[in-house]
Amino acid sequence: MHNVVIIGSGCAGLTAAIYTARANLKPLVLDGHEPGGQLSLTTHVENFPGFPEGILGPELIENMRKQAQKFGTEFKSGAVTEVDLTKRPFKVIAGKDTYETRGLIVAAGASARLLGLAGEKELIGRGLSTCATCDGYFFRGKPIAVVGGGDSAMEEANFLSRYASRVYLIHRRDEFRASKIMIDRAKANARIEFVTPYVVDEILAPEKVVTGVRLRDTKTSKKREIALEGVFVAIGHDPNSTAFKGKLQLDDNGYIVPQHGSLTNVPGVFVAGDVQDHRYRQAVTAAGSGCMAALDAEKFLEEHKD
Ligand code: NAP
Repeated sequence: MHNVVIIGSGCAGLTAAIYTARANLKPLVLDGHEPGGQLSLTTHVENFPGFPEGILGPELIENMRKQAQKFGTEFKSGAVTEVDLTKRPFKVIAGKDTYETRGLIVAAGASARLLGLAGEKELIGRGLSTCATCDGYFFRGKPIAVVGGGDSAMEEANFLSRYASRVYLIHRRDEFRASKIMIDRAKANARIEFVTPYVVDEILAPEKVVTGVRLRDTKTSKKREIALEGVFVAIGHDPNSTAFKGKLQLDDNGYIVPQHGSLTNVPGVFVAGDVQDHRYRQAVTAAGSGCMAALDAEKFLEEHKD
C-alpha cells in the first residue's frame, strides 16, 4: 500500500515527488510511456528560472529525478493502462502490475502532435520545435515556418514574427480552424506569409539540421520547396488522459478539469502539469502545479488517516 502514487515523470510529476518525498510520504512515481516528459525531448532551456546560462532539457529533468530520489522517491517504469478510483485505496494498473494507494497525483502530461514524417523526432532541437515560447529566441533573424491552421498556429506565428526574419504559415487547407481575430492579426503582420493549401511532404535536413521544407499543394499536387532554418509544428496536443475517461472529469479536448487548485472531482486524486493545462504548457508552470498537487495530497492524507 502506497501513500501517494504519482503518474508521470515529467516536470510536474517530479516536482510533486520532491515535495511528497520531503514530507516523508515515500511516493512511487510511474514513469509513463515518455519518461521525463516533453523536457526530455527538447535541447536548450533558457527560461527555467535559476539557470542564467540555460540548461539542456534532459539534464534539467535528470537533476529533478535525482533530487526526488535523494528524498526517497521510488520509481517504476511502465505506462498506466487502467485505474479504479471508485473507492480508496485507489487501484492503479500498469501492464501486469497493480498498485494500491491512498492518494493519487495524475501528472501524465500531454504530447505535442507531430506530422508523422520519417526522421521527424530526431530533428527536435535541430531546427524542429513544438514550442514557440521555448525555442523562438533561437531563430532571431532567420526564416522559419509554422505548420497548422488553428489558434495555436496563429498565435505562434505572431509570437515568432518578433524574432524571425520571415514566418511561413503552412496549412493544408485554404480555410482555417482558428478564430477570425487571430487570423486577421496574422494576416495583418507583414512578416507572416500564408502558404496554403500545402502539406509538408519532407523536412529537408541533409546534415541532420533543418534547411528547408518540401511542400505539396493539396489541390494540384504541385511541389514547392522553401529554404528555412526552423519548423514549428503547431497542430495541437493530445493530453495523456485515456485511462481516466469516465473516471475523472475531462473537458471536450480530453484535458482533466482541475477544481480549486489541483483537486479533481474524486477526493484524494490530484492533477498537475500539461494533462490539465492547454494554456500555459511551460516547464515552470508544470513544476508549480506539481508542487500544488503535492501540498494538496499531503493535506488530504493528513486529514484522512484511514
Ligand atoms: P486545433 O484547433 O485542433 O488545430 C489544429 C490545426 O492543425 C488544424 O488547423 C488542423 O488542420 C491542423 N492539423 C492537424 N493535424 C495535422 C496534420 N497531421 N498535418 C497538418 N495539419 C494538421 O489545435 P490548436 O490550434 O492547438 O488549438 C487547441 C485548442 O486551444 C483550441 O480550442 C484553440 O481555440 C485553443 N487555443 C486558443 C488560443 C487563444 O485563444 N489564444 C491559443 C491557442 C489555442 P485542419 O483544420 O485541416 O483539421
